[in-house]
Amino acid sequence: MQLTQRAPASERLVDLFERGLAAPICLTWELTYACNLSCTHCLSSSGRRDPRELTTDQAKAVIDELEAMQVFYVNIGGGEPTVRPDFWELLDYATAHHVGVKFSTNGVRLTPEAARRLARNDYVDVQISLDGATAEVNDAVRGAGSYDTALRAMSNLADAGMKNFKLSVVCTRHNIPQLDEFKALADRYGAQLRLTRLRPSGRGADVWDELHPLPEQQRQLYDWLVAHGEQVLTGDSFFHLSAYGKSLPGLNLCGAGRVVCLIDPVGDVYACPFAIHDDFLAGNVREPGGFAQVWRHSPLFEKLREPQTGGACASCSFYDTCKGGCMAAKFFTGLPLDGPDPECVQGYGEQLLADRGAVPKPSGDHSHRRRPRPVDVTLTRHRPAPDRPPVTACAEDPLAGTDFRA
Ligand code: SF4
Ligand code: SF4
Repeated sequence: MQLTQRAPASERLVDLFERGLAAPICLTWELTYACNLSCTHCLSSSGRRDPRELTTDQAKAVIDELEAMQVFYVNIGGGEPTVRPDFWELLDYATAHHVGVKFSTNGVRLTPEAARRLARNDYVDVQISLDGATAEVNDAVRGAGSYDTALRAMSNLADAGMKNFKLSVVCTRHNIPQLDEFKALADRYGAQLRLTRLRPSGRGADVWDELHPLPEQQRQLYDWLVAHGEQVLTGDSFFHLSAYGKSLPGLNLCGAGRVVCLIDPVGDVYACPFAIHDDFLAGNVREPGGFAQVWRHSPLFEKLREPQTGGACASCSFYDTCKGGCMAAKFFTGLPLDGPDPECVQGYGEQLLADRGAVPKPSGDHSHRRRPRPVDVTLTRHRPAPDRPPVTACAEDPLAGTDFRA
């Protein structure tokens, strides 16, 4: 992958990233909105398949384009991507065309045979989603039986010899006290723990107020992340917590439209997986010029790559690492984009939330028309090198695989 411009020797790479790259480093592709589950906090409001979904041939054309752009890997999600009948065909096509695949799944289709197939492919990585270290906590948000499904999938992967797959957790008020248990669970299956931030996107907007971590839990999470360093992956999603002191590993910037973007199941391209709203829609891969045209020349992405002023956060002494936090979190909680994050560790977000006006609604709702019965529980606690595929490295080190020669 080439950078769009050569950085002067004195310039930090992060400054260059803020102006955008010739191809995204972290590209998420949601293959389908269809899902067997109805998680309360689903960022894409998934459930039902969209009949306009990209066909197999159209999806392969996108992969061809990614290969030509030297996108080394793609994060595939959904919905539940494995329920697409052509999922395995597309996975094999991508890896045969030098596009590594990391996909997120609730585990429903990870049979022993599927796990053995994945373990044989060096250019695939898997993330099993689990949002509670116990069935009680997990199933309350992901649905009855989803804990057992995820553990069965992890067991199948471990038995198949799949090393270092990911156990992916969205941090909530109810599972922050289980951080050590998550780590032990990941270790038990030879997996690596990945923690990410709950955003008020999709159905997550409906439950954010009751699920997002309490201020004291944010501190607990920060301290835990500092103590566990590089052992635990975060996808750079907690950089707003760096305002507590020491910076967490990562780029510490909002990469939306600069190094990050989303292709949704119908081919729409958004600035970020957590920003599915017309305000962040940059184009569609089916338009002339395809994905490359959208990525390189859409007016929205060009605007996002302009220098940011910092707005109300500019005078904060932590702005250099916190950068005012997450654009999507601000947008979907109704806060100004040039102000503090709703979970600002200095407490400014809480003040703004108390005075906010109308909150924007996410675009599109693909939820099952009949949601499953809620779980009745009372929570008691709250191009690749041949020897090392790029998927795992790129996953958490946005610099991995980047060719810095102009
Ligand atoms: S909007 Fe939030 S989640 Fe998306 S790239 Fe920016 S900081 Fe990350
Ligand atoms: S005021 Fe803004 S820059 Fe400072 S900690 Fe809060 S969100 Fe971050």
